[in-house]
Amino acid sequence: MAKYDYDLFVIGAGSGGVRAARLAAMTGARVAVAEEHRVGGTCVIRGCVPKKFMVYASEFAQHFKAAEGFGWSHCDMTFDWPRFLDAKDVEIARLSGIYVNNLQNAGADIVHERAELLDAHTVKLTPTNQTLTADKILIATGGRPTVPQDLPGIEHAITSNEAFHLEKLPKRIMIVGGGYIAVEFAGIFNGLGVDTCLMYRGANILRGFDNDVRSHLTGEIEKRGIKVILGTEHTRIEKTDTGTFLNHLTNGHVEETDVVMYATGREPYTAGLGLEKAGVKLNERGAVVVDAFSKTNVDNIWAVGDVTDRINLTPVAIREGAAFAATVFGDNPTSFDHDTVASAVFSQPPIGSVGLTEAEARHQVGKVDIYRAVFRPMKVTFYGGDERMLMKLVVDAATQKVLGCHVVGPDAPEMIQMAAIAIKMGVTKQQWDSTCAVHPTAAEELVTMREKYVPIELAMA
Ligand code: NDP
Repeated sequence: MAKYDYDLFVIGAGSGGVRAARLAAMTGARVAVAEEHRVGGTCVIRGCVPKKFMVYASEFAQHFKAAEGFGWSHCDMTFDWPRFLDAKDVEIARLSGIYVNNLQNAGADIVHERAELLDAHTVKLTPTNQTLTADKILIATGGRPTVPQDLPGIEHAITSNEAFHLEKLPKRIMIVGGGYIAVEFAGIFNGLGVDTCLMYRGANILRGFDNDVRSHLTGEIEKRGIKVILGTEHTRIEKTDTGTFLNHLTNGHVEETDVVMYATGREPYTAGLGLEKAGVKLNERGAVVVDAFSKTNVDNIWAVGDVTDRINLTPVAIREGAAFAATVFGDNPTSFDHDTVASAVFSQPPIGSVGLTEAEARHQVGKVDIYRAVFRPMKVTFYGGDERMLMKLVVDAATQKVLGCHVVGPDAPEMIQMAAIAIKMGVTKQQWDSTCAVHPTAAEELVTMREKYVPIELAMA
């Protein structure tokens, strides 16, 4: 008789956990996955996927605006939020069902309960109180939104979790934060006709992105009607008798809105998992500490995805999960290479970014060549809009290796996937330029930037 109930017990059926469980089960291992909410995790249930549907829904406002310039009339459409929510929920349920089927077809058991470690090989399930044992454990519990607990009135604020289920669209919203989630939801609500204010404590949104990208995006979202307040925080949030909120700000202003949304980061979801009982080491942010093979300090316990706080992106969690399965159940030691991972921000306009920012490159290699284009795409010039696209290449001046590519504008996320292949392969600027343009596209600008960009301040010096 087997020593344990399972060969592998996965806690968390999100992107990383499901991939790992499925691949492990396909090797013949006896696998169970516990999920306290719905199978699919943050990405499918309350993250990337429903967010992208909301982005699609909200982009129509811009399409209708452009349509009139192309000869269409009667473009003053109305938007039905409850109808959209219903359609979104149907699609999310379908996708979650596919995850369930994939797990079951691979032979994994799904346990719809909360799992907590009692020791390195035993989990307790809630609510049934059943205990199960496993030879190996994989922690894949992801992250959850975090808000400043000490802010007076923070209990009135929603996070992205609730933004997917608002009963009705507010007239006015205050979104706090300057990261991915804040700028994406600012674009969504603004596109859906909500009077949107984005408030960020720093000098420029999207810290960590290339500075040109950050300032370009700020200008573009302001053009689309988002009010951006920088260098400011809440002193308190006050609920009025009519149910609205007064946002008292450090700049002395008071902004009244119907909803306040905090998008101030996510924290690894390790609380209450019993990791201390199993002796699993956490870092100061509460993330599970792992090695390159996603192994914790405990010999039979691994962790993948946002709970390890490495690069918190779905495709990274999936690759970490796959690498774990290959290493532990496929007899093929595999570690995911976290270098040069591209990402997209589904702001409006969106961002695609891969490799080093200009500042990072200057710091790492010293002298860099910058190629940059800012222009109105042909669709925009036709209808008389003033939205501009930004494309930027960061090149190592000594080796001519392309170190970074940054695009802001329509289809930037689609473009960056292709650029990422070349940059990951170590492409040089000469090889990049030897690629013939695809015409007429905006992307052709990427392979036709020949003049080095010199900022005006330097050119005048
Ligand atoms: P981010 O870490 O990207 O941004 C958090 C923002 O909140 C920062 O601007 C930060 O400011 C600000 N902030 C933090 N604490 C406070 C505070 N106490 N008061 C005011 N502002 C504060 O987190 P997100 O929540 O936007 O996203 C979480 C993660 O999810 C991302 O890092 C990303 O990995 C992932 N994600 C990816 C997406 C994609 O791929 N398209 C989409 C959505 C999420 P400061 O910069 O000053 O620290």
